[in-house]
This record gives sequence, C-alpha cells and structure tokens, in this order.
Amino acid sequence: MFEKKKVEKRRKDEDLFKVVDSTLSPRTYVLLEEIASKLNIDYYLGAISSGKEAKVYPAKTVDGKYYAVKIYYISTSASKRAIQKYTFGDKRFEDIKVTNTRQLIITWARKEFKNLSIMYDSGVNVPKPVLVEENILVMDFIGENGNRAPLLKELSEDEITKDLYDEVISQLEIMVNKAKLVHGDLSEYNIMVWDKVYIIDVSQAISIESENAIDLLIRDIENMNRFFSSKGIEVYPTEDILKRLNIT
Ligand code: ADP
Ligand code: MN
Repeated sequence: MFEKKKVEKRRKDEDLFKVVDSTLSPRTYVLLEEIASKLNIDYYLGAISSGKEAKVYPAKTVDGKYYAVKIYYISTSASKRAIQKYTFGDKRFEDIKVTNTRQLIITWARKEFKNLSIMYDSGVNVPKPVLVEENILVMDFIGENGNRAPLLKELSEDEITKDLYDEVISQLEIMVNKAKLVHGDLSEYNIMVWDKVYIIDVSQAISIESENAIDLLIRDIENMNRFFSSKGIEVYPTEDILKRLNIT
C-alpha cells in the first residue's frame, strides 16, 4: 500500500514536469510543486523563452486555463550588477538587505511582481500578476492554448499601424501618469500584441521620481519611435510626447 502510493506520487511528479527542462534547481522544483497545488496546475510545458535572466514556461490548469511562469536564474555577476544599478535609489527597495545572489534574485522577482501589480491596478495593460514565490513569478498567460501572443517585433508589416503606435503611447501615458513608473526597457521585444497591446518584462521599471527616470523614459520613447518609424509610421516628436505626459 505504502509502496504503491510512493510510485503513484512519483509518476504524478514526472507528469507535472514532463516538459520542463532539467536546468532548474531542486529548490525551484519544490516551489513549482507547491505552486501547482495552489493554482490547480495540471502540468508545466516546455520553455517558450530563455533570456539572460529568466525562462518563461506556460502552465496548464486542470480547468484548461494557462498561466505564464517566469523563473529567474540564480544569476551571473553581470545581472547582479544590473540589478544593483536599477534598485539603487528606488525607495521601495531601500530596506531590503541584499546580501547574496539568491536574495538578490528573489528581490528582483518581487520587484517585477510589485511593478506588475501597480501597473495592473493603475489600468496599464500588463499580464495580471498571480503570485510570486522566491525566484518564480506567475502571471496570466497572453495568448491561446499555451501558444503565446506575438511580440511587437514579430508582427508583419501590415499589422504595424498608426493605431497600434497610438495604443503603445497611451499605455506609456497610463504607466507614467497613473502608475508613476517608467518601464526602462521598453522595446519591440517587451510588448505583446493580442486582443490589445500588453506591456511585459517590467522588473527594471522604476518610480518616475527616481534620479535617472526621465533619461530612461526618453530612451523608452525613442525606442518606440525608432521602431515605428522604421516601419513607415509617422511618429510624434519625443518632446511632444513628454509634454503630453506633463514632463518638461
Ligand atoms: P526576459 O526578456 O527577461 O527573458 P520577458 O518577461 O520579456 O523576460 O519574457 C520572455 C518572453 O516570454 C517574452 O518575450 C514572451 O515571448 C514570453 N512571455 C512573457 N510573459 C508572458 C505572458 N504573460 N504570456 C505569454 N508569454 C509571455
Ligand atoms: Mn524581455
């Protein structure tokens, strides 16, 4: 009886992680199991992306709903430096002691969750944040049946319109004026287009009050203007957008 239960349990675990690759730490597996039982996740699918700092996996619930599960690597020294740069001077994170890499990554994941929550509550189109556990962030899945929506970068020429540009700029406006945040890494790679435009990858977003926030905002705007004008869209001068955002 006991033996049988053990075998069944093991088979269940294997199913849960069938398509998750083997690069994850044992601790991450434990957390993924806990998250699965909390959210009724039936199984995790193979990674849809692996960037410098994180991998993203779809997860399917028993009810057929999908989540996006972003797992941060316990990082390299390069991303450690980047994190320190971005969290330094951010009042919301001043009281968090960053003593080791693991703690740094957990802070980083929490920061993305917090930024997502503020943006979501302020009406920015972002994936709805669901939970954060150590280095794992769960949010709503943008796409259908575990197939992610295309990035702005992946759209065909005729899908890139002035209306889409206006939508992006109005998201920027809500982000700055309602959420009081600057994305800081806005590009055609961090925008998904589905039923509407979604802003993603907000871990490095900082308060508009931060020291270098305006410089980052200008860079975000210029990234968008560069992308859309390269597609033949007539863009607004950066100055005009800043004025519209009440930043002079
Ligand atoms: P990073 O660029 O740091 O690796 P991102 O947050 O940009 O991390 O996510 C990486 C990729 O994962 C995105 O380009 C997108 O393809 C996919 N992705 C991220 N969030 C979601 C989501 N909520 N739903 C569907 N796919 C997502
Ligand atoms: Mn990204």
